[in-house]
Amino acid sequence: MRSIDDLVVSGQRVLVRADLNVPMDGLRIADDGKIRAALPTVKALLARGAGVIVCSHLGRPGGRPEPALSLAPVADRLGQLLNRPVELAASPAGPAAAAVAGALHPGAVAVLENLRFSPGETSHDDAERAAFASQLAALADQYVGDAFGAVHRRHASVAELPGLLPHAAGYLVQAEIAALQRLTRRGERPYVVVLGGAKAADKLPVLEHLLGLADEILIGGAVTATFLAALGWPTGRSRQDGDLAVARAILDQAGARLVLPPDLVVAASPAEPQTALVVASGAIPPGQMLLDIGPRAAQHFAARITAARTVFWNGPMGVAEVPRFAAGTRAVASAMVRNRAFTVVGGGDTSAAVRAFGYPASLFSHVSTGGGASLEFLAGRALPGLVALEQGTAVTSANAR
Ligand code: ADP
Ligand code: MG
Repeated sequence: MRSIDDLVVSGQRVLVRADLNVPMDGLRIADDGKIRAALPTVKALLARGAGVIVCSHLGRPGGRPEPALSLAPVADRLGQLLNRPVELAASPAGPAAAAVAGALHPGAVAVLENLRFSPGETSHDDAERAAFASQLAALADQYVGDAFGAVHRRHASVAELPGLLPHAAGYLVQAEIAALQRLTRRGERPYVVVLGGAKAADKLPVLEHLLGLADEILIGGAVTATFLAALGWPTGRSRQDGDLAVARAILDQAGARLVLPPDLVVAASPAEPQTALVVASGAIPPGQMLLDIGPRAAQHFAARITAARTVFWNGPMGVAEVPRFAAGTRAVASAMVRNRAFTVVGGGDTSAAVRAFGYPASLFSHVSTGGGASLEFLAGRALPGLVALEQGTAVTSANAR
């Protein structure tokens, strides 16, 4: 895969597909981490004399303009962070985008409006996606893929567009691949995987893939309920999904390497923390939900993390948004930041929890910006956006000029 360092960009218009899909609080940016993560690539291109056009999606507008999902606040924040004016094209393609791109000087930055305002971006019809990709290709001379959070999507700006322009991977994509690849190789041991969160169906395939590599797999969150159910233990009203047969196969194969929490915090519901009590993992009372790992589990997991030389963590240990159910997640986060070994955090809710505890990303070796993408990468799947960056460019009228 080529790096942007391999592109000659001086005097060229470079289209950067970034992941600026920031959490919004109304029209206010709730967390600008993804914009900051895009800066190294944008700054490097500017410093090398390129005109930079940044594009991204924001939320799910469903193929038509939706003012609440405009990238206007994102373009403003990007301008503040770069300390220069950033123009926003009123639409992601077409005449408005062409006018902004055409007027772009070397060293200047523009942002295209939300890519998902156009139905072509996410269309299931190959021809529609290809048509939108060629509209985007016509705006620039070169393409840089830096939207790690979107590389698992077969979307026009991620999967089709690289085939139409000379292209390379940006620094964020390179950093994500380097960190995640290290987790799929035999690295420094012990190698501990901490897996929690809610979507067992998404997480079991990752476990299947990492099972042969990890020395220990610590289970928390609602994923615990899936394993308890697979063992035939009571789970009360706990949230539970995922294939029990897959969970059983993982239990069989992992043996003692898979560690379930010895105790749990349960309550009638996440909204009733006053009903919380600690129970043994085999004894969830009927009508109760498991909502956090228990204090013994938290202590044990923290000790295992402290002893590890490589740690990958995805998924909160409980409903960490509610303080009464956040202790397990906090214990894992604090053990990780105190460990100077190779520590990687993945998952949107996990990284949000870590930030809410006041731990900056710099305290970890790597915090992945792509939840779904990092899980699919670690499950060993081919990601369309990375495959496209690896492949060559077809000669088309868009780049023959
Ligand atoms: P990530 O986004 O980091 O990949 P997930 O989306 O899989 O993580 O899981 C995060 C969500 O799981 C949070 O909203 C959290 O409240 C929820 N959660 C964690 N533990 C439990 C539990 N035991 N029961 C219900 N929900 C849980
Ligand atoms: Mg999530």
